[in-house]
Amino acid sequence: MNFDRINLSRRHLLKAVGAGMVASATAGCSSNEPKPPAGIIGADGKRVLPWKNWSGNQSCQPSERLVPRNEEQLIDAIKTANHTIRCVGSGHSFSGLVPTNHTLLSLARLRGVENADLQALEADVWGGTRLSMLGRELWKHGMSTINMSDIDSQSFAGAIATSTHGTGKELGSISSHLRAMRIVKADGDIVECSPTKNSDVFYAAGNHIGALGVVTKSRIKTDPAYHLKEHSWMMSEEEGLARAAELRDKHRHYEMFALPHSDYMLGVAIDKVSVDEIPAEPPVASGDAYEAFRMMSNMIDYMPFMRSWLVNFGASGVEPETRYGKSYEIFGNLRDILFNEMEYVVPAEVGPQCLKEILATIKKQDIPVIFPIEARYVAADEHWLSPFYRRDGFAISCHNFHDKDYKAYFAAIEPIFWKYDGRPHWGKIHTLGPQEFAARYERFNDFLELRRDMDPQGRFINDHLSRVLGA
Ligand SMILES: Cc1cc2nc3c(=O)[nH]c(=O)nc-3n(C[C@H](O)[C@H](O)[C@H](O)COP(=O)(O)OP(=O)(O)OC[C@H]3O[C@@H](n4cnc5c(N)ncnc54)[C@H](O)[C@@H]3O)c2cc1C
Repeated sequence: MNFDRINLSRRHLLKAVGAGMVASATAGCSSNEPKPPAGIIGADGKRVLPWKNWSGNQSCQPSERLVPRNEEQLIDAIKTANHTIRCVGSGHSFSGLVPTNHTLLSLARLRGVENADLQALEADVWGGTRLSMLGRELWKHGMSTINMSDIDSQSFAGAIATSTHGTGKELGSISSHLRAMRIVKADGDIVECSPTKNSDVFYAAGNHIGALGVVTKSRIKTDPAYHLKEHSWMMSEEEGLARAAELRDKHRHYEMFALPHSDYMLGVAIDKVSVDEIPAEPPVASGDAYEAFRMMSNMIDYMPFMRSWLVNFGASGVEPETRYGKSYEIFGNLRDILFNEMEYVVPAEVGPQCLKEILATIKKQDIPVIFPIEARYVAADEHWLSPFYRRDGFAISCHNFHDKDYKAYFAAIEPIFWKYDGRPHWGKIHTLGPQEFAARYERFNDFLELRRDMDPQGRFINDHLSRVLGA
């Protein structure tokens, strides 16, 4: 989300009123989720630290943590382990994809970009490479990623595990940039796949949810290095919904942030610019809108009857903002206010209608949330479990602060997504199981069969995957 870039010009007022309430409000906050244990002593006599994800809603106590230095060590580790192995990227999934009481495997040392080829616009990326590193490394070779999510903290293999995406009518998820992949299976054998070699594995592994093996390296398509201009402005909810398709068609990237309980919506348009178009002294973004939202949320806890008035008051004072930078600088936003998230992808053509119904439901049921709802257009792809499988999508993300109860909010909204034939983001919170997935993905059973072939003993299956895949 780009809310950390916008200038809530009334933030000083909010701060003044809210500051006194923050200490008492946050003192009373505590996560609903169980706390991770303090650590255990592993088989080698060393302490094994517990694990938790970015927002803290998922945690576990692994019996061992492995961080192999090279592919050979990784293969040895897989061959010798005789229990569940789960990979962890950067822990930015909200669903239970990672937790295990057994081996937690990180590719943090298998990172970097190799064989960058400006002529072919391709490069090899190790699975443990953070997306931020990918952007910077490609730039050194005169290239940029084709698109990017709204943060760049994820690992590459973790990002493609869930079809992590940005926005853009013509632009697919990060998985849609894949040319080839290299995967270590449960028996330690390596499978190489591409659209022309082991193509079934390739189209399954483009959204692998860590269920097929360990993704060590991938070859990706890139663009020649480019700069971006981002412009954000506030408009009425009515205008935002009515103009969604027009603005999508006009810009390389276009997304919306709808403000629950308000009459407003923020539009964010991002386009390529030449270096000559960048002003000598580009405007500086203000950067504390998340904090302002947090303050506002704390105030509303004390006077919920003021919710709508306060959000409208804050939103109506938002000034338009523009910023410029290298592709990876504009894509990579900072998220320093923790939240939990549910995201579904509905067919592009019904997206604004679905968003409208969600906003109306929040108002009608007086759901206590003010966290902006993000909505993005993403192009279709061919990966079997991708929420964009053969369907241009409109991804709608509902959030709440990490220390607020998100469950009642998400429970009220999830059926609206189902009504619009939504497919959940695999890395975010949802309640679907194998029957619902089979109804949404025509290749779901093929994925299960391929998974059984690649990992007959279910070594890469944890409780969450067992539930969602029925494995
Ligand atoms: C603040 C924030 C912002 C976000 N923004 C976006 C966004 O803009 N767009 C979007 O689509 N999503 C977004 N997400 C969701 C996030 O991109 C996905 O959940 C992503 O999968 C997380 O990547 P990770 O590296 O943290 O992987 P993890 O969450 O650590 O793991 C994800 C999955 O990948 C598997 N895995 C990791 N490495 C490997 C490997 N080498 N081999 C095999 N399996 C592996 C894990 O076992 C697990 O199944 C956001 C999340 C947060 C917290």
